[in-house]
Amino acid sequence: MQSFTEENYLKTIYNLASKQQGEVSTNALAEMTATKAASVTDMLRKLADKELIHYKKYQGVRLTEEGERLALQIIRRHRLWEVFLVQKLGFGWDEVHDMAEELEHIRSEELVVRLDTFLGHPQFDPHGDPIPTPTGQMPEMGYRKLSDAEAGEAVCLRAVMEHSTEFLQHLNHSSLTLGSIVTVSEINAFDKSVLVQIGNDRTVFVSYEVAKNLLVS
Ligand SMILES: [Zn+2]
Repeated sequence: MQSFTEENYLKTIYNLASKQQGEVSTNALAEMTATKAASVTDMLRKLADKELIHYKKYQGVRLTEEGERLALQIIRRHRLWEVFLVQKLGFGWDEVHDMAEELEHIRSEELVVRLDTFLGHPQFDPHGDPIPTPTGQMPEMGYRKLSDAEAGEAVCLRAVMEHSTEFLQHLNHSSLTLGSIVTVSEINAFDKSVLVQIGNDRTVFVSYEVAKNLLVS
């Protein structure tokens, strides 16, 4: 059985690997987990002993099939709990990530099955992220970043890449909600910030930093 920290590593390796192609570097892991490279190396050795990752010193890290299966289970639990917290307990989408970080480590399979049924088998979490299937498939959404949209394009806001409370509250204040259709009315040539129109009358300024953390289709 894995410790919380080991589970968090598996999840982090999975997330880093899906953002970039190929292997995950020890440095990237140290940065993501805010730990010293030496402690990262220790942890990687442990995970390699358990055959959850492929790891050779000075080379990248890759999840084994079993490691990926576990990572997807953790992500599935995390996202289901977020749905529960928002839909059933009335928390805001900006409040649930940290709680789900703890709840995701409860391993009871029966609990997850009942939670999923109770929620009506949701496909997305409150941040628009797809929930891995019970058999461990991660749905491929093919979203792109708002910062890659072109002037004149109408797109639907689908998901966020940044889950911090500050970021989500900023979206709340700007009336940028998932599911809304926005039209890119102007892209600033200098700093790549965009002006988007929501509905007929509202124009919202979106900085480049925000636009590249918003996924659209
Ligand atoms: Zn989350």
